[in-house]
Amino acid sequence: MKIAIFTNDGRQSLKVTQKLQKKFEDTHFVMDEKNPDIVVTIGGDGTLLAAFHKYENILGTVRFVAVHTGHLGFYTDWRDDEIDDLVISLQSDNGQSVSYPLLDIRVKYEDDQRPVNLLALNEATLKRNSATMVTDVFVGGDLFEKFRGDGLCISTPTGSTAYNKSLGGAVIHPNLKVLQMTEISSINNRVFRTLSSPMIIAPNDWVTLVPASECDYILTVDQDSFHGRRIEQIRFKISNKSIQFAKYRHMQFWQRVQDAFIGAEYAN
Ligand code: NAP
Ligand code: MN
Repeated sequence: MKIAIFTNDGRQSLKVTQKLQKKFEDTHFVMDEKNPDIVVTIGGDGTLLAAFHKYENILGTVRFVAVHTGHLGFYTDWRDDEIDDLVISLQSDNGQSVSYPLLDIRVKYEDDQRPVNLLALNEATLKRNSATMVTDVFVGGDLFEKFRGDGLCISTPTGSTAYNKSLGGAVIHPNLKVLQMTEISSINNRVFRTLSSPMIIAPNDWVTLVPASECDYILTVDQDSFHGRRIEQIRFKISNKSIQFAKYRHMQFWQRVQDAFIGAEYAN
């Protein structure tokens, strides 16, 4: 089994990386940064997001394991004081995995015939800072509304606990293969109208945004952002691809949500 370690540059992460590297050498794992079977990330959810994008071209063959060095995360299953157990689990690996849906983004720019395809693990947003963003919103091919406001966020199930949640979106169990669209400060009055509620989009439907012709939109995809080119339209749908995690133990999703957002002391 070929392994790669992907770490952020926090002090604790680098310490854990060193320790893990030594353990992998002692147990004769093959380290392969380019073409690993397993990527072990060390840091937080943001570190796993960055690793996902580094290896997004080999998603069909790679599995991820995420170790957290700060607070408990959503993609991170292992604490940094459990490294020994993690190595034992890797040694007895039999290919077990769990997969989560990804967001497919197809951007058609005005200056290019060919669309650009992007992939998100958490979400994509289209925003405008300088003035009101105006965009037609199509759902499943039909015009649904003309949105006016700061922006729109389209998230995956595992991304539902991130930006989506800050925008008042629902937390979605990652076994559900759906997308969620939330609004960022929509304008609603006697003249302008949007749904004003988060929408859960069914697996086969896609959302298309056709923004008014301006050049100062910002498209964000997880922690990346793109701007400066006129966008003709963007289409969002659930990807045929998915991300695989090497699951060596079961972690209850709602337990994790409770840990992260409520805390045991508030639950009773
Ligand atoms: P960051 O600014 O460090 O991330 C913001 C927070 O989101 C961090 O606490 C991060 O956890 C957490 N996070 C990331 N993915 C999550 C998930 N799936 N569920 C729950 N929490 C999650 O930047 P980053 O670490 O590069 O992460 C990029 C993400 O930040 C974006 O994909 C977006 O979801 C989120 N974001 C949120 C807001 C907002 O809530 N207003 C605004 C912009 C971006 P870690 O500390 O473990 O990394
Ligand atoms: Mn982060």
